Amino acid sequence: MVRSDYLSWGRVLRPRQTVTRPAFMGDVAAILRGSRTSVLPFGMGRSYGDSCLNADAALIDVRALNRLIAFDRETGVLEVEAGVTLAEILQYLTAVSEPERSWFPAVSPGTKFVTVGGAIANDVHGKNHHSAGCFGNHVLSLRLLRSDGTTHLCSPSQETALFAATIGGLGLTGVILSAVLQMKSVPSLWLEVEDIRFEDLAAFDRLNAESADWEYTVAWTDCLARGPQLGRGIFTRARHAGRLGPPPPAMLRFRRSMPIDLPGFALNAASVTAFNALYWRRAPVTPTRRVSSYEPVFYPLDAIGQWNRIYGARGFHQYQCVVPTVTAPEAIPALLNAIAAARQGSFLAVLKTLGSRPSPGMLSFPMAGTTLALDFPNRGAATYDLLNRLDAITAAAGGRIYPAKDGRVSAGDFQRGFQNWRDFARHVDPHFSSSFWRRVTAPFESSSNS
Ligand SMILES: Cc1cc2nc3c(=O)[nH]c(=O)nc-3n(C[C@H](O)[C@H](O)[C@H](O)COP(=O)(O)OP(=O)(O)OC[C@H]3O[C@@H](n4cnc5c(N)ncnc54)[C@H](O)[C@@H]3O)c2cc1C
Repeated sequence: MVRSDYLSWGRVLRPRQTVTRPAFMGDVAAILRGSRTSVLPFGMGRSYGDSCLNADAALIDVRALNRLIAFDRETGVLEVEAGVTLAEILQYLTAVSEPERSWFPAVSPGTKFVTVGGAIANDVHGKNHHSAGCFGNHVLSLRLLRSDGTTHLCSPSQETALFAATIGGLGLTGVILSAVLQMKSVPSLWLEVEDIRFEDLAAFDRLNAESADWEYTVAWTDCLARGPQLGRGIFTRARHAGRLGPPPPAMLRFRRSMPIDLPGFALNAASVTAFNALYWRRAPVTPTRRVSSYEPVFYPLDAIGQWNRIYGARGFHQYQCVVPTVTAPEAIPALLNAIAAARQGSFLAVLKTLGSRPSPGMLSFPMAGTTLALDFPNRGAATYDLLNRLDAITAAAGGRIYPAKDGRVSAGDFQRGFQNWRDFARHVDPHFSSSFWRRVTAPFESSSNS
């Protein structure tokens, strides 16, 4: 059926796409055979730009392929269909949690409303990237269906090239039907947490250095602070606590939902500056330890359904880049200065130090360095001008933009950031494509930066 309501999370683009929704894994081959245009799998649409969209072509919505297949309580090995969400996995792991041992996803992004297929295809990272690497580091094997009707069992030791291309492969190598994942053994599903207010980027670096024994670290940064306050923020570190009675309940639904799109003027530089200053002061200067359920620490935004409507009907862009460790000390202040000067950032701005564990994926985003992620309400040309300036700083620093968050980076900046994209392209299924892929593989002049 042709539809125009399959959107990505940023809601800037509203393409027309033919959508099919297989109920069983066995239905997917017939859909692939019958499609006259290129196809792309679609999960929960939690990618922000156009990497989960296929304008004027076809999407295969895999959400109904959401069966848990097997779980070994001794080893923590879980087999699922690819449309299962992390929320569903967490609900199951909570139910089977035992006094002696609980299991938890080895890596989780900042929302649990993502499918396993989507998490593999973007090789997502979480607050423990410095200690655990990416989602793909914990995929033991996956089953991939190609448009020629062949099914491939791929793993780090079997069909290794196709495995490497599919981890972080943006849905372009075929439909992931199912996956076998290694869960992490934890003392409990409760967390020990500290929030620490910091004054500048040097303090952020110091907190990172002294948090080696904390499994999860992340910082919120006040993206509109300038001068000596540049880079100030709140550093959060957490680790699994010992058992504290029954596990916290797993939430499968939102507590509240945004009923309407907010009008554009509600989110302006003055309201964000005021919010940021108040929010920063909320955190203590010296660490205060607390015990928390994992939900508010891992998924603070999941309590409000459709929170993306806060940015209004024109939608928003998320900008996420990573810059290598050696260039980060210059590049991160340059990025923050450009954002503060333009007075455009929103209150959701995140700084995180990524570790050096290599991902199995050819096109995976993380590299050792610092990643900055923040939202920009879509204000048309002014927003694009600023984002282009940020691209130039990222490119000069040898960094790259995260495809899962992107809807507008140039082909040149993508190709410079992911130098092995041509090797990856050899594994793209000839019947698969996406709006993102067509945009970033367009030819470009190597001397230009646009
Ligand atoms: C609030 C929020 C916080 C986030 N935090 C993080 C974070 O901390 N770290 C991070 O890395 N990301 C983060 N993200 C991004 C999100 O984790 C990724 O975009 C994720 O891949 C979305 O999964 P999805 O199921 O919604 O997939 P979609 O967005 O629908 O699709 C993503 C990609 O997966 C492909 N795909 C989906 N299913 C299959 C399948 N069965 N077979 C083959 N390909 C498939 C699609 O073609 C597409 O290329 C966040 C997003 C939100 C909204």
